[in-house]
Amino acid sequence: MKTGFVPIKLEDYIKRHLKSNRDTDRSELTKSLRSAIEAAKKGTRCSCGNPIWVIGSAIVGHACFTCITGASYPDSDYEIDEVCNLHDLCSVSARKRSKDSRKRHTNAKKAKD
Ligand SMILES: [Zn+2]
Repeated sequence: MKTGFVPIKLEDYIKRHLKSNRDTDRSELTKSLRSAIEAAKKGTRCSCGNPIWVIGSAIVGHACFTCITGASYPDSDYEIDEVCNLHDLCSVSARKRSKDSRKRHTNAKKAKD
C-alpha cells in the first residue's frame, strides 16, 4: 500500500537535501521552497489542476507530484508539513479528515497551554 506524502518541517528538509546535494546553495534552496510554499498556500495549481508539490516545485517550477515525477501517487515522498494538508494525497490530512471533520489543529505541543 502506498503511504502518500510524508510531512517534513522546512528546516529538516533543507538539512536532508543539503546532505545529499552538497553543491546546493542553502539560501537559494530556502528561497525557492518559501516561494513555492507561498504559492501553494495561495492556491496555485499545476496546469493539470492538482495542488502543486512544494518540494518538487522549488526545483523545477510550479507543478504537481504526478507531473513532476511521472508517478501517479506519492509513496514515502516528502512534502513540507505546513502545506501537506493541501494535498488529498497526504496521509496526515486523510487521517485527520476521518477522525475529525472540523478544522482543528492537533499540534500537541502548541495545544498544551
Ligand atoms: Zn500536474
